[in-house]
Amino acid sequence: MNDLINIAIDGPAGAGKSTIAKLIAKRLGIIYIDTGAMYRAVAFKCLNRNVSLDARDAILHLLRNTDIRIQFEYNEQKLFLDGENISDNIRSDDVSNAASCIAKLPEVRNKLVDIQRDIAGERSVVMDGRDIGTYVLPNADVKIFLTASINERAKRRHREYVALNSKKTLEDVIEEIKRRDYNDSTRQFAPLKIAEDAVLVDSSGKDIDQVVEEILGIIDNRLSID
Ligand code: C5P
Repeated sequence: MNDLINIAIDGPAGAGKSTIAKLIAKRLGIIYIDTGAMYRAVAFKCLNRNVSLDARDAILHLLRNTDIRIQFEYNEQKLFLDGENISDNIRSDDVSNAASCIAKLPEVRNKLVDIQRDIAGERSVVMDGRDIGTYVLPNADVKIFLTASINERAKRRHREYVALNSKKTLEDVIEEIKRRDYNDSTRQFAPLKIAEDAVLVDSSGKDIDQVVEEILGIIDNRLSID
């Protein structure tokens, strides 16, 4: 037995997982792991090397020659791809869409899951993703499935795009999110789904503080039962 705490937060794109998970980790005084950033890093490298997202063999070759590492600066995750900190270069929607394509490949997932499990085996974490409660950390102490209506998720993403001067319409964003949801929930290996022992939290119509308090309440409850 060890006294590490592992908290899994899964859910579809745009549900607010990373914002909420980061705040929860801060309140609990533990680290936050953004697993999506690892899939984004592999996708980023494919795009940079002009490797087609359908070219399985070429992606796997690239994967074998790829070093992905996580480091923490002031408790904040930094992602190093082949020794370079690319944390700020992986947020474009090209990378988002490419990530959901390469995330279908079991070999990509296995490599990244090993890194995720190693970190969670050494430190208390709040880890967010799509398959954390179902596959990466099946024995997590608390599992949350955070979702919101498609309209609300798209509106949030659209506001972020507007802030970045993007010309994308709300309809474009709805289509994009639907496509990623479809890719993530229909892939064969470790698809996005609610773990049997997860607690469903719907953030529609709630502000960030409300959702954080709700989840902290669930965590408190679960940890005091065990
Ligand atoms: O969470 P984020 O939007 O950064 O994730 C980017 C993509 O990476 C997701 O759309 C999903 O396809 C993939 N992903 C995954 N499993 C995870 C985290 C992310 O398949 N645990």
